Amino acid sequence: CGIFGIVGVANAASFVALGLHALQHRGQEAGGIVVHDPEQGFNNARRFGYVRDNFTDPATMATLPGPIGIGHVRYSTAGSKGATAIRDVQPFFGEFSMGGAAIAHNGNITNADALRRELIERGSIFQSSSDSECIIHLMARSLQRSIPDRMEDALRRVEGAFSVVAMTRTKLIGVRDPLGVRPLVIGRIGEDGWVLASETCALDIVGAEFLREVEPGEMVVITPAGIDSRHPFRPSRPRFCIFEHVYFSRPDSILGGRSVYETREAIGRELAKESPVEADLVCPVPDSGTPAAIGYSLESGIPYAMGIIRNQYMGRTFIEPTEQIRNMGVRLKLNVNRALIRGKRVILVDDSVVRGTTSRKIKEMILDAGAKEVHFRIASPPTAWPCFYGVDTPQREKLLAATMSEDEMRDHLAVDSLKFISLDGLYRAVGEAKGRNPKAPQYCDACFSGEYPVEPSDQIEKGFTL
Ligand code: 5GP
Ligand code: SF4
Ligand code: MG
Repeated sequence: CGIFGIVGVANAASFVALGLHALQHRGQEAGGIVVHDPEQGFNNARRFGYVRDNFTDPATMATLPGPIGIGHVRYSTAGSKGATAIRDVQPFFGEFSMGGAAIAHNGNITNADALRRELIERGSIFQSSSDSECIIHLMARSLQRSIPDRMEDALRRVEGAFSVVAMTRTKLIGVRDPLGVRPLVIGRIGEDGWVLASETCALDIVGAEFLREVEPGEMVVITPAGIDSRHPFRPSRPRFCIFEHVYFSRPDSILGGRSVYETREAIGRELAKESPVEADLVCPVPDSGTPAAIGYSLESGIPYAMGIIRNQYMGRTFIEPTEQIRNMGVRLKLNVNRALIRGKRVILVDDSVVRGTTSRKIKEMILDAGAKEVHFRIASPPTAWPCFYGVDTPQREKLLAATMSEDEMRDHLAVDSLKFISLDGLYRAVGEAKGRNPKAPQYCDACFSGEYPVEPSDQIEKGFTL
């Protein structure tokens, strides 16, 4: 998901809409905005579909006045899937004795089932099937006297991955979980405006200046007067999601002081060093494979070419929640540039192989177009484990790499070669010169290594075994 918040500007909602538009790649199913105005109080709008279709209409925007607001774009990893339940669309709102508050959450709460059961037994009335709603109910039960204090109380009971943007009538609040699994950045805008956003590309679109990241385990409480920084959790070593670098974030964003684009290009260079092959062309599977393909081409000296053309009117296919649409999706989205491919030995670079749907379809299309050889190079290690921290990977059985070795996957996909970057190569590309520290990994890489930095307790209860 993508989250955004702003305080200290006239007409916050229009900024929130722009910010969410820049974060649309993080969630395409639905979006929502909450604002507060001193005269009109809290208002919200939550809709299915793209930000540009919902939050540009003057009639809708006129219902969202005020100098403070937050927003969310949804990609379902917990709760209902797809455009089925508007009640699952964030931000969520709660009214407390000291006033209202709204929250928007990116990540996945790993003990949400247990918390929900406990809260319902004690009288909470849940409105949605979303894991994020627990936070509001935990806040309602806290005895603290201010909303930030109640949020601290609530979040200390929550496990897993959470970057949260919240607002009261006057305050903008940002929090990252102790491991800092999901990103969250702070920006400055105008004289006394402040912004919180999942990624820096959302600061760029509103003309805000990047100040710094919210630190793992930090809570910032922001008013036009400034930032109050707190540290509500027991400190731990950060474990940022390494897959944000590979796929999830936008290439024009800065993560942990590094350009995502440069990291992806470096992944491509590492791949070329680790797994060279003679060929005529390096082609990306667009858009997610593009920077890595450029890196592979630069390192290998094999020319880069656009062998596959992407229809720009399609979103991210993976994010389509049903398999049927995803299957169709590949053809609706990608087509082979036949004239270029005929008779060539082609290296295809993609960011990841999950179910293998994309790679299988693309290989068929490329061979159909008369390619002589097809070599896959993948910018992440084999995805052998599900993510329980906010990326919607399928159950373990559906992951190609969970049941097959690299060679078996190559045969299954019927390609001339298939190579994944090594975990160490990936760590080098994100700037860890010595690679992965096996005793204390610098990132979360559970979907590749099976080492989960936070025990996925709800899943274990449902029968998941490590
Ligand atoms: P597959 O078709 O193998 O199931 O999925 C791999 C494709 O999905 C890649 O092209 C990748 O760009 C895309 N992808 C999109 N979203 C995700 C995501 O959330 N996780 C992963 N691993 N891959 C995704
Ligand atoms: Fe990121 Fe993978 Fe960890 Fe999920 S399991 S947070 S996708 S690195
Ligand atoms: Mg892709």
